[in-house]
Amino acid sequence: MRALGSADQMAEVLDAAVQAGINHLETAPAYGPAEDFLGRALQRSKHRPAGDWVITSKLLPGLSLEQGQRQLHGILERLQCQRLDNLAVHGLNRPEHLLWAQEGEGRALLEWAMESGLVDQVGFSSHGSQQLIAAALDLELFTFCSLHLHLLDPQRLPLARQALHRGMGVLAISPADKGGRLQAPSAQLIDDCTPIAPLELAYRYLLSHGVSSLTVGAAQASDLHLASQLAHRGGPLNAQEQECIQTLKQRRGHRLGAELCGQCQACLPCPSEVPIPELLRLRNLVLGHDLIEFSQERYNLIGRAGHWWEEIDASACDACGDCLPRCPHHLPIPQLLADTHSRLKATPRRRLWS
Ligand code: SF4
Ligand code: SF4
Repeated sequence: MRALGSADQMAEVLDAAVQAGINHLETAPAYGPAEDFLGRALQRSKHRPAGDWVITSKLLPGLSLEQGQRQLHGILERLQCQRLDNLAVHGLNRPEHLLWAQEGEGRALLEWAMESGLVDQVGFSSHGSQQLIAAALDLELFTFCSLHLHLLDPQRLPLARQALHRGMGVLAISPADKGGRLQAPSAQLIDDCTPIAPLELAYRYLLSHGVSSLTVGAAQASDLHLASQLAHRGGPLNAQEQECIQTLKQRRGHRLGAELCGQCQACLPCPSEVPIPELLRLRNLVLGHDLIEFSQERYNLIGRAGHWWEEIDASACDACGDCLPRCPHHLPIPQLLADTHSRLKATPRRRLWS
């Protein structure tokens, strides 16, 4: 979704990806000309990974059977492929999306895609709640999933482990950009992770948990340098990596003191539907590691990205106090939310994708 300048740019990234040991391409019709450029680049590329490319594309939820069939044929045509390895529901984010996949036209579409032989397996990506992702895993319809799994936001890791345990493939969505804009980290975060670069530590953290695919999001060949260094570095964290992650947590805890939100979600539900843990997570990142730019960007996307991100910000808190007795850390939640709002409310920035 990032090498969108031309088919030549895509071809350059593809060749560098093969050299780096990458074998999985993940795209979607929603990423502008990506599929078209990818199809053309695949035709002209001289190199292919051993065992060939694994290609994933996606369809938005809510389509009718006929719309979905037409769109899948469109994907194959643009990619210039006879069949697709992986077809994902792109953004199983809301209960109605789950229902669509469970018993609506989505079910018929996914079954047709498999039975027609056009697709090897079906899965989903989700930015939704943990309960919704758990319910999607329980459908036993999907054999892979793409989730937000991050060193600085590990709350969905138990779901990833559950999926891996069931034999599913698990892809980590954007560990760099959505993981805290780790491709351009704050000086404080760099210092907190020293001697390992924050992005390297984040990738290693996910690999050590057995995550099957990391999305690297390359716009140019040079964006794949780190991936190529890590190509054969799966397996458990070594002693230095463990120590760096420990230091990271300790420093965050020290800087936030009694105001650290433990992300346990016990404060929910809020009658005003304020997503308390997600908002306080951004505050944790600002005060814990000086990730102000990333946190401001995410905060100011609230309510502007449909079902791809939160829809209610901290200003909706009316200080009713319902959440207070539920917080095991006795946090003054309304005050922390007001502080979050005043720190992060700023001019919106451009959004590439959720
Ligand atoms: S105090 Fe604010 S955040 Fe807490 S439950 Fe009431 S409205 Fe929601
Ligand atoms: S209950 Fe307290 S610590 Fe847990 S997520 Fe809510 S605010 Fe954070």
